[in-house]
Amino acid sequence: MNILVTGGAGYIGSHAVAALCERGHQAVVVDNLVKGHRAAVGDAKLYVGSIGDEQFMDRVFAENKIDGVMHFAAFSLVGESMSQPYEYYNNNVCESMHLFHSMVKNGVNHIVFSSTAATFGEPLEIPISEKTPQNPINTYGETKLAMEKMLKWFGAAYGLNSICLRYFNVAGAHPSGKIGEDHRPETHLIPIVLQAAAGRRESISIFGDDYPTADGSCVRDYIHVTDLADAHILALEYMMRKNCSDAFNLGSGGGYSNLQILETAKRVTGRPIPSKIEARRPGDPPVLIASSDKAERLLGWKRKYGIEEIISTAWKWHESHPNGYGD
Ligand code: UDP
Repeated sequence: MNILVTGGAGYIGSHAVAALCERGHQAVVVDNLVKGHRAAVGDAKLYVGSIGDEQFMDRVFAENKIDGVMHFAAFSLVGESMSQPYEYYNNNVCESMHLFHSMVKNGVNHIVFSSTAATFGEPLEIPISEKTPQNPINTYGETKLAMEKMLKWFGAAYGLNSICLRYFNVAGAHPSGKIGEDHRPETHLIPIVLQAAAGRRESISIFGDDYPTADGSCVRDYIHVTDLADAHILALEYMMRKNCSDAFNLGSGGGYSNLQILETAKRVTGRPIPSKIEARRPGDPPVLIASSDKAERLLGWKRKYGIEEIISTAWKWHESHPNGYGD
């Protein structure tokens, strides 16, 4: 297949590009390189530009016979989204609307959309299933839900098939150590813990130890970025086979507390990791765990990596790329 990957120079997108290439597919990347890294794309064809620029996208579609799209390009930081709703709606919702329109104009009818468990807000049930009501509590989640809904209406009117994949805490790196996570600034727990293990941070702050959980710190459901990339390919194949639209949650059905992540990272790296407890971070629900029963049943998706491998592959990337992509 010839797959257009938007945001293919970003963390998750670049792992999807690698997974496609490893399976003998062609990946064509569109990325504006605002957050992404040229080196993350590998040998795939890269177009630098905006997914919201329909003339540019018409050219991309004209020059490549695209069978389907994986859409990762988005801003994705919850905290930032709360102070920059204009940028988030503009970059995520408006730009995506043009992308979807370009697809329809160019007769490309299949899209796997990178959604998020943040569309569920403070979930009414754990684990979160596809039937759990979606009530986002931050701008980021709202923009992703708006895109899910837009896809539904584009599907009804124009026959655009979509599969929305909702996931939460993605971590780890490609087992080769060649690509990995390079966010600037970094805000996520596992890379920050590993920066502290490598001595590039003095210590790690654990936000809150008074949550109603076993050890008082928040619990999150971690999924390896390579497992996630595989799910995108399975979703695309499923959608093409069935000519349908659907949504799937992707998680492990279990979770790890922030303190458990810290302890696992100490064990995996063999390094001391100084830490201190700080106040809760606003907007953090105590427990987020997703069920992926439906994805396992219908897509045949099976996770290959557990928390040890998530941390050890991320550590391999951190050790071999202390300055990330260095760009
Ligand atoms: N966290 C933390 N210290 C940090 C960064 C994150 O204690 O320096 C906590 C955060 O409060 C949350 C969990 O780690 O409970 C996961 O946060 P992350 O930002 O990695 O992902 P999110 O759950 O926000 O998607």
